[in-house]
Amino acid sequence: MSRVAYVNGTYRPHGQAVVHIEDRGFQFADGVYEVWGVFGGRLADFDGHMTRLHRSLNELRIPIPMTREALKQVLNETIRRNRVQNGIVYLQVTRGTAPRDHAFPQDTAPSVVVTAKRVDTAKGEAMAARGAAGVTQPDIRWGRCDIKTVGLLPNVLAKQAARESGAYECLMYDEMGLITEGSSTNAWIVDENGKLRTRDTQANILKGVTRTQLLDIIAEEGVELDERPFSVEEAKKAREVFVTAASTFVMPLVSLDGVRIGDGKPGPVATRLRAAYLEQADRDAV
Ligand code: PLP
Repeated sequence: MSRVAYVNGTYRPHGQAVVHIEDRGFQFADGVYEVWGVFGGRLADFDGHMTRLHRSLNELRIPIPMTREALKQVLNETIRRNRVQNGIVYLQVTRGTAPRDHAFPQDTAPSVVVTAKRVDTAKGEAMAARGAAGVTQPDIRWGRCDIKTVGLLPNVLAKQAARESGAYECLMYDEMGLITEGSSTNAWIVDENGKLRTRDTQANILKGVTRTQLLDIIAEEGVELDERPFSVEEAKKAREVFVTAASTFVMPLVSLDGVRIGDGKPGPVATRLRAAYLEQADRDAV
């Protein structure tokens, strides 16, 4: 089946969907994005991602391109036209197309692109059941990782390092040796004392929507959580390590830089939280 993309008001065949060479996303990474999980053809946590999108746009002073309802309609229509039951929908908003100049252009409309793709859920489930490998690298990103910009080159290099080591994700660490987050995920551990920990979002990391949803689930389940950074060494000694994102949900890491985590199998906390997350995301999708 041929894929369809939304580009600035028009649905086009995926292979012919293009933006201008002077789009500022292309030239300056001057844009933001969001990724929603799709469950049964519906959007998981529409509001959570919309709220973060508006925050990212406001932080960069990019105008909000359309109303929430209009955007929801475009996202759902893109999902529908691509016949995605389970997968992801990707939205990118850039400052628009203008003659190349670093400073903001005047009166330029933002560019909006939406794509949707199917995800092989069986493959994800198999990986979650087996557990994935992780590696670590220094975090070399800028100081505004709280904004979900398309400027992802350090993340690209980190993910590539993981791939070249045969690993799934790269956890990045700051100058203190404390893990910030994954290249496209938030990082969590159940430390050697059994305490569930994830880094606080006052730090220079992205406030993951999946992370926020998990905080609610954890509170509902009465599990104690410590929002406190942890070092690479602590992660290697942890009972469990896992990462979260809208596209991967909760993914256990069973090794880090070749060091086995716990007994080398997905732990009970990650397994339970994954199940609870999937149930909630599916139930609340719109
Ligand atoms: N951290 C980074 C750097 C990311 O790129 C992502 C997702 O793309 C996340 C964390 C997880 O965010 P979310 O749960 O909203 O998908």
